[in-house]
Amino acid sequence: MPISYQKQAEFTCPNCGANVTAAVWQILDAQEQPGVVDDLRRGLLNRVTCPHCGGDGPVRGPLLFHDAQARRVIFAGAPGTADHEVRDQARNLHALLVSAIPEEQRRPYLADVDIAQDVDGVALMLKRMDRRRGGSPPAPSAEAIISALPDLAIQALMQTQSGADLRVAVGAYPLLLRPEVDGLLAKQIDQALDAGHDRQASALESRREALSELRAAAASPRGT
Ligand SMILES: [Zn+2]
Repeated sequence: MPISYQKQAEFTCPNCGANVTAAVWQILDAQEQPGVVDDLRRGLLNRVTCPHCGGDGPVRGPLLFHDAQARRVIFAGAPGTADHEVRDQARNLHALLVSAIPEEQRRPYLADVDIAQDVDGVALMLKRMDRRRGGSPPAPSAEAIISALPDLAIQALMQTQSGADLRVAVGAYPLLLRPEVDGLLAKQIDQALDAGHDRQASALESRREALSELRAAAASPRGT
């Protein structure tokens, strides 16, 4: 059952006065709807185009944002709504959110709801969250792959004397076949040459070449 929730809302076009029905997000789950969360960050959430006049604008409703990875729940009430109605909106959407999460996955952070002034306030909190996490969107970088590669893998690589040795090392550390490792070795070769360690550089270079051949063989179909 999806956590995110869209409601069919009726509203009056401020431009031509027509009655328009549109689906608007009321519960937004960061892991389910990353694209919609991006819209939210850019202030483009729940923008509706009027089918009668073509005018477009934001539909202002309540929003409950949920991010299980960041352990964060943020609520914004619909602007211009009486306090007791905002409380009802919050209670109803929160109950809906919790019921969509399997019981064994519910965590105490779910009860800890941050309140934003409005949807723009939610976007602002998200941007602060992104900064703390070091930028958005989080994508696995070459650095992340390299840092997941233990020093032992490079040591094992440097101890190889033959193709058979190399296959054993790659069997133990499959990450060695990642193309990012080629860049890492190239950098280490440059550093060794800069430091005048020619023998180390050529040892690195021979492993780098052997690894490239193995990588190419792994990528091409068998028997060719
Ligand atoms: Zn209109």
